[in-house]
This record gives sequence, C-alpha cells and structure tokens, in this order.
Amino acid sequence: MKILEDRIRKDGRVRAGNVLKVDSFINHQMDIGLFEEMAKEWKRRFDGKPINKILTIEASGIGIAAIAAKEFGVPVVFAKKSMSVNLDGNNYVTHIQSFTHNRTYEVIVSKKYLGPDDHVLIIDDFLANGCALMGLLELIEAAGASVEGIGIAIEKGWQSGGKMIREKGIQLESLAIVKTMDAETGEITFG
Ligand code: 5GP
Repeated sequence: MKILEDRIRKDGRVRAGNVLKVDSFINHQMDIGLFEEMAKEWKRRFDGKPINKILTIEASGIGIAAIAAKEFGVPVVFAKKSMSVNLDGNNYVTHIQSFTHNRTYEVIVSKKYLGPDDHVLIIDDFLANGCALMGLLELIEAAGASVEGIGIAIEKGWQSGGKMIREKGIQLESLAIVKTMDAETGEITFG
C-alpha cells in the first residue's frame, strides 16, 4: 500500500536488532487518517468474508484494530497480557514470546467475548517471527471460532512469520512488506 510505504520511508527509523520504529504515526502517536485508509484497504481485500469480530493483542494493535472494526462494523476484542492469576476457567489462555521485549507473556481472552459463532479477522501492527499471531490463533482455536484472515500493517519479509502463516493457508494481507532495512544508512526497501 503506497501511502503506508511512503510514510514508513519518510518517518520510520531503523534501530539495531532488526527493529523498525514507527512511533510518530503508529506505535505511540497515532495517525488516525492513515489508520482509516488502512482499514478501507483491508475491507477491500477481505471483501465477501463473513467477518463478525476483530481480534488483536494489547497494546500496540489496539488503535489500528479499533479503526478497522469501525470500517467493518463489528466489535473488536483485544487479548490481554495478564499476570498469571487468571486460571479460573473463564478465560482462554496462551503464552507469547515478545519480539521487542525478549520475554514471554501470558495472554488471555474472556470466554464471554470469543466463541464458536465468531468469524475472526486478526489485526496487528507488525509481523516478525509470528509468535504473536500463533498465540492469537491458539486462542481462536480454543474458543472453537473460525479465522477468516489476518491483516498486518508492516511485515518484515525476511523474518519467518509470513511464510509460516501463508503455509497454513490463512489469507494474510500485509499492507507494507519490508524487504530490507539498514540501521546504518536508514534505508528501507519494500518487496
Ligand atoms: P512476532 O510475534 O511476529 O515475532 O512480532 C510481532 C510483535 O512484535 C508485534 O505485535 C509488535 O508489537 C512487535 N514487533 C516485532 N517487530 C517489530 C519492529 O520491528 N518494530 C516494532 N515497533 N514492533 C515490532
């Protein structure tokens, strides 16, 4: 998606350790006009799918997913990072390895908000190794819900997550796929 690629080239910052910072328009300050354009693009790409719920993970997916939910006219649920006292049977629970913080989180969704009648579109900001998505897919499976697709803002194409998800036969729509990024020159290319 050209406007997103142009914005990443203009305002994205490449950090050591394979991290792309997009804090000025996605991850800290949020450009809602841009989010609306992204939401429209996902609506076009997932046209005809019987989506009745959007699922994301806190915190950085919530803003994008909320705007997407408005475009699709469905509720949005975010999986919560919990402090491991939620083993009361009211929640689906999984564990996710964080790419940016190098630790594992317990993540939950209440059984009240995800169930067998749900046809879910997952939305998230980044796709790297796919750990976050695998965790969300586990929660959806545990709930007996169906996955209709996955919408990602920025996929880092050289990391393994995209291949893994596409091999599962899930429709994955990444709006910008970064091919290379160089922490020294700051140069970013898309593919
Ligand atoms: P994965 O689970 O696919 O390895 O990583 C996805 C999650 O890690 C995303 O939800 C995002 O929060 C974070 N993440 C991964 N790579 C980057 C990156 O280059 N920049 C930023 N800002 N977040 C990232």
